[in-house]
Amino acid sequence: MSPAAFQQSQSDVAEGRSTIRCEECQSAFRSESRQAISFLLLDQLTIPAIGCDDHLEQFSSICNLTTTETADLLDHRPAGGICCPGCRLAPNNSPHPMIPIQDGAVVALACSEHQSEIVQRFHAGLQTRRYLTASSSTLTDSSL
Ligand SMILES: [Zn+2]
Ligand SMILES: [Zn+2]
Repeated sequence: MSPAAFQQSQSDVAEGRSTIRCEECQSAFRSESRQAISFLLLDQLTIPAIGCDDHLEQFSSICNLTTTETADLLDHRPAGGICCPGCRLAPNNSPHPMIPIQDGAVVALACSEHQSEIVQRFHAGLQTRRYLTASSSTLTDSSL
């Protein structure tokens, strides 16, 4: 490997790390406290998640675009608990991938099945939002 290529790959790693610039997200991930866990309610799903309030809020509003019901965010364990036994145990198992959102990230402490489901929802929501943004800007352009 040439020195130039080595430098290139090093800066890639540094960039990947710096995507989470939100200090509140970082401190939420650092704290092992269960207090930091929020619960995202989406359709039949109850997903334990960690992140700062702002980014959890953004995450739930993006997921909200994929459902006709309202996605809800609780800062305490929901009254009905978590139905899925895998998700109930998930916070004790590791690791959980981070889902980057703008300058922060959310970690879904769900079983692998529900984790991939919430990630799919999130990406679908992002696409919907991009589409909505694109169509509204087209509208503005044509009205000029
Ligand atoms: Zn954050
Ligand atoms: Zn689950």
